[in-house]
Amino acid sequence: MSVKNVWLLDSGSLVIDHSHIAWNIGPGDPVRFPVYSVLVEHSDGLFLFDSGFDKGTVEEFLAFELPEQTEEQTIPGQLEKCGFKPSDVTAVINSHLHFDHCGGQRHLPDATTWVDRDELRHCLVPEGFERLGYADKVFHRPDSTYRWLEGEEVDFADGIRLLRTPGHTVGHYSMLIERDGQKPMLFCADVTYTQETWDNEWIAGFHNDPTANLESLRKVKHLAERLDAQVFLTHDMNAWESYRHAPDSY
Ligand SMILES: [Zn+2]
Repeated sequence: MSVKNVWLLDSGSLVIDHSHIAWNIGPGDPVRFPVYSVLVEHSDGLFLFDSGFDKGTVEEFLAFELPEQTEEQTIPGQLEKCGFKPSDVTAVINSHLHFDHCGGQRHLPDATTWVDRDELRHCLVPEGFERLGYADKVFHRPDSTYRWLEGEEVDFADGIRLLRTPGHTVGHYSMLIERDGQKPMLFCADVTYTQETWDNEWIAGFHNDPTANLESLRKVKHLAERLDAQVFLTHDMNAWESYRHAPDSY
């Protein structure tokens, strides 16, 4: 009963303005940033933390983000590199439902979706300022099977803990992976985007509650320090290039 392998699945890249990466900090310049998801092979199942973006959806609704994604960078292409097919994925855990974290779920209709219930509600009935972020609702079908993420900490499976980290969105969760004799791995999704924003405690321009977002950032920083965890930054191209990419695993 434990985590066997962890892969980072490349989903391609997008462009946003630096002033959206670091809210109210300095002037803006376009920045190309990576998008990826995390595949966890566990004795209880094959789990995917987020699922990247869908190029066609971004081209339709957010073409200004200049999506780059090859066939190999889609969820089926990435799973194949790891020796799996889409129907092997038993559950998707969504840190949140922004389009660049759920777009690959169009390929995973049979997987159970684990998400915060309020997050789903905001996605389906967004405020105006959230509308573009929640542009992809493909995961929500009449036959979708949901399990709700509830409370400060969810003991998802042996070695996988999900931590409530709201603010970027209303129901945002981070993932901590712990294995005997190995450095814990902390995936804090969009609590913050880059090494620069992690170091300076800056949050992204996209948020539901900036104060809660900052509190979540301080919480995961403290946890990472206390556990001496390796922090995986979500949207930092330099950091991404230093990580192992599928088919190489952790
Ligand atoms: Zn987001």
